[in-house]
Amino acid sequence: MQQGSIHVQTENIFPIIKKFLYSDQDIFLRELVSNAVDATQKLVLLSKKGDIKGDLGSTQIEVKLDSKAKTLTISDKGIGMTQEEIDKYINQIAFSSAEEFIEKFKGIDDKAQIIGHFGLGFYSAFMVADHVEILTKSYKDAPASKWSCDGSPNYTIEAAEKTERGTDIVLHINEESEEFLEEAKIKSLLNKYCKFLPIEIKFGEETYEVASGKKDDDGKDVMETKTKDHIINNTAPAWVKAPSDLNDEDYLNFYRELYPMSEDPMFWIHLNVDFPFKLTGILYFPKLKKTYEVQKNKIGLYSNQVFVTDNVENIVPEFLTMLHGVIDSPDIPLNVSRSYLQSDSNVKKITGHISKKVSDKLVELFKKDRESYEQKWESLGVFVKYGMLSDEKFFDRTKDACLLENIEGQFKTITEYAEQIKPLQTDKNDKIVHLYSNDVEGQDAYIQGAVAKSYDVLKMDALIDNHFMQQLEMKNSDSVFKRVDADTLDKLIEKEDSMESVLSEKEQEKLKKAFEEAIEDNKVTVELKALSPEDMPVMITQSEWLRRMKEMQQLGGGMPFMGDMPGGLNLVVNTNHPVAGKLLKAKKNQGEYIAQLYDLALLGQGMLKGKKLTNFIQRSVKDLAE
Ligand code: ADP
Repeated sequence: MQQGSIHVQTENIFPIIKKFLYSDQDIFLRELVSNAVDATQKLVLLSKKGDIKGDLGSTQIEVKLDSKAKTLTISDKGIGMTQEEIDKYINQIAFSSAEEFIEKFKGIDDKAQIIGHFGLGFYSAFMVADHVEILTKSYKDAPASKWSCDGSPNYTIEAAEKTERGTDIVLHINEESEEFLEEAKIKSLLNKYCKFLPIEIKFGEETYEVASGKKDDDGKDVMETKTKDHIINNTAPAWVKAPSDLNDEDYLNFYRELYPMSEDPMFWIHLNVDFPFKLTGILYFPKLKKTYEVQKNKIGLYSNQVFVTDNVENIVPEFLTMLHGVIDSPDIPLNVSRSYLQSDSNVKKITGHISKKVSDKLVELFKKDRESYEQKWESLGVFVKYGMLSDEKFFDRTKDACLLENIEGQFKTITEYAEQIKPLQTDKNDKIVHLYSNDVEGQDAYIQGAVAKSYDVLKMDALIDNHFMQQLEMKNSDSVFKRVDADTLDKLIEKEDSMESVLSEKEQEKLKKAFEEAIEDNKVTVELKALSPEDMPVMITQSEWLRRMKEMQQLGGGMPFMGDMPGGLNLVVNTNHPVAGKLLKAKKNQGEYIAQLYDLALLGQGMLKGKKLTNFIQRSVKDLAE
């Protein structure tokens, strides 16, 4: 028997591993199963090259629990190790001294980074086990060996009785980690980290029913219960296959395998890049709603089919986190910290590539079948707008597949729409005025006014639309967006030809004063306008600019100098409406008349509430009774 001490020069590193890596305990299983997969793949490769002659036999990996012996064993039929190899790969830990380890360790918070950095994959076993054994036989003609380490830096190595090629890693689970002796726990870990590993992994057995061939008295089949190996993984997930070998149903089935409870996705992109980096994966577009109740973190990041993380936030651009699916790249380092991943140049290239693929797909779908694209727009819109807001390149690539919807449910691209409204909705400064409503029901009176003048009104009621319109204005200085209730229509689309008032200047002055006195609210500015007699007699408007500033302030993005902004409401009185003339002539109750008109204007904006609303109703009832 050979004895020795593991090449760490000073203290015992095991307590350090246990103590500091504690929070990431779960990954030990991923590390050990990945090693088993690697060893098996190396074997397959050697066989393909002809270095190993004959049939390889089964290459199944097995994870076994023995609750009596309190062990967890990972067995593979891979290349195995000779005694020299154990010495080289296991005994000489990949850092020169524990001191260096501790020194480097000081500044690092992320445990996963340490494991990756120091090549401690195998040693992560000591997070859950005090005593670990390796029983291994190389594919080469060499005797089997047993390595054993009780958690001190001392190990033993001796000849063993193993006739089958491969390696068993036996973990004697320690008292604090007994949860890892529970079948359900191991199953969930295997399901999380190993679900798509390329070599079959067995964990326990499962029962199933088959017809026994016998019939019962009623002539029905008698069923028989049988057992078979429970294989936890799908060794050939859709993303590793060639797109040409897959049909729609295959893609949908894979989605259902990933997210069993979810609604089917709208469409998907199969990523398949070889150069300048390797990347495969499938990204699915889920059906999104207008709000952000999007289920993020549904993209699984894999490295050679080994699960890395499902928290891709800050790794891929935020708008892409709305997508679901799988990204796999051996260029994504396994055991490194999030901050490292973010700054990794491969990861950056990968996300740039994905963003491009996504916009290519959108443009392709739009061009191929516009009708079905329009039908999907409700779900797609949020994503596209979000992407265009957050990624300049995405904006440029996708803008021609970005749709604007009007209140009648018609869709136009940004350019098409501008062309359509240009003849009627260009103001005297040559700006194309995009009228919009963010509340089609609530702004109905204003919308009807616009429709009566043959103006077109856009529906912009998604949370993101405010920002999106601002972005479009910034990108295209010919276009402005104005909410239908932002001003009187003639002001919204300012043209030279304004109307003459039927009231004399003196009468107008009188009217204005009467309104100001009756309303007595310094937040409201009374403004007389000579509009068409068919327009409303009075209406409340609010400048587009002021309203936007206020909305920004409410969202916390205001400038300090804005302070508390004035209410900024305008009460526009249409001097050409018959009501204006009638009001001037009224001898008594003029104030009440005005109050009633003012309330009507507020009502039209949905601003009449509480006590004011009650007063209004009572006043109206009284008028009817008179
Ligand atoms: P890494 O896998 O990052 O190299 P590990 O500490 O996990 O680091 O493993 C060290 C080495 O031990 C591996 O590179 C491999 O040569 C050897 N090894 C580990 N597990 C096995 C196994 N199941 N079969 C054969 N060799 C193994």
